[in-house]
Amino acid sequence: MYQLIIIGAGPAGLTAGIYAKRYGIKFLIFGQPLKSAANEAHLVKNYPGIKSVPGPQLIKKFQKHLNVKIKEERIERIEKKKHNAVFEIFTNKNKYQTESLILALGAKTKKLNIKNEKKFLNKGTSYYIPDDINLKNKTIAVIGGGDSALTTAIKASKQTKKVYLIHRRNKFRGAPSLVKKAKNKPNIEIIYSANVTEARGKKRLEKIILDNKNELEINQLFIEIGGVPNVYLCQELKIKTENNFIAVDKNQAANVPGVFAAGDLTNNPLKQIITASAEGAIAAFSAYKYLRNVK
Ligand code: NAP
Repeated sequence: MYQLIIIGAGPAGLTAGIYAKRYGIKFLIFGQPLKSAANEAHLVKNYPGIKSVPGPQLIKKFQKHLNVKIKEERIERIEKKKHNAVFEIFTNKNKYQTESLILALGAKTKKLNIKNEKKFLNKGTSYYIPDDINLKNKTIAVIGGGDSALTTAIKASKQTKKVYLIHRRNKFRGAPSLVKKAKNKPNIEIIYSANVTEARGKKRLEKIILDNKNELEINQLFIEIGGVPNVYLCQELKIKTENNFIAVDKNQAANVPGVFAAGDLTNNPLKQIITASAEGAIAAFSAYKYLRNVK
């Protein structure tokens, strides 16, 4: 029996682990740090104290700091025992019992749901920009209006001939500093108030069709339209969600006693590495207080 099980090993889960360790809680952590969204961040430039750091490097530092074995088993379901405060976690390999839980599973990339999106996945279309991609002399398009799309457009513009940045509204959601940077790049053309409706090509992506009937010939498309929270474990436990994000209070507590949540899957408004980490720290502190009270 564990006192705490943390599910998720991105910034939220890893920080929760660092704090749980300090509080002397008997805990387990499940997840895959290399699959966290932070690991896909090209350069993180807003983590205090570190001016600029590649996402994978920051995640490695978190993991090293935690210095605990992270279990990679896939969590299939969680049940709560009816007459006591124990949760049972069923993985693809084992069953575990715990008195409390921190859910820190982040979010998965949102799909655009356009014609041929799947067909060209990794054949000219992807949901993030890999570090080693060669875009020299290419024409590319980025879809989205948040920090991810802006960052990708700026990064790609350093290599490419031309970047179309396509946003469905006429105002960006992302940070004004990134908007300014994108607007100042001579090879970024911003297309406002447009949606992509279809991807076309033979074996690889060759062009995209917009809802204003324009067609753009491109070599590569990056779809960076945000995330869908990983809340698939919540239903059985009857965890309350708000617009599909886990509803938490200021202690990161969900509506089910003993369940806490942190990071991109919560209904907190700012989704950044720093806020995910802070939520992880608060969740671990709250679990610690909860564990003292249930004894
Ligand atoms: P986001 O902030 O949720 O933005 C998603 C963007 O995609 C929005 O502009 C949205 O349009 C658009 N969008 C959503 N669904 C769409 C659809 N079906 N078709 C067309 N456009 C669609 O997501 P994000 O940019 O991935 O950022 C997620 C979080 O990570 C944010 O908190 C962000 O600050 C953070 N982040 C930070 C950094 C950094 O600090 N360097 C870098 C990357 C991400 P609307 O605006 O119309 O809703």
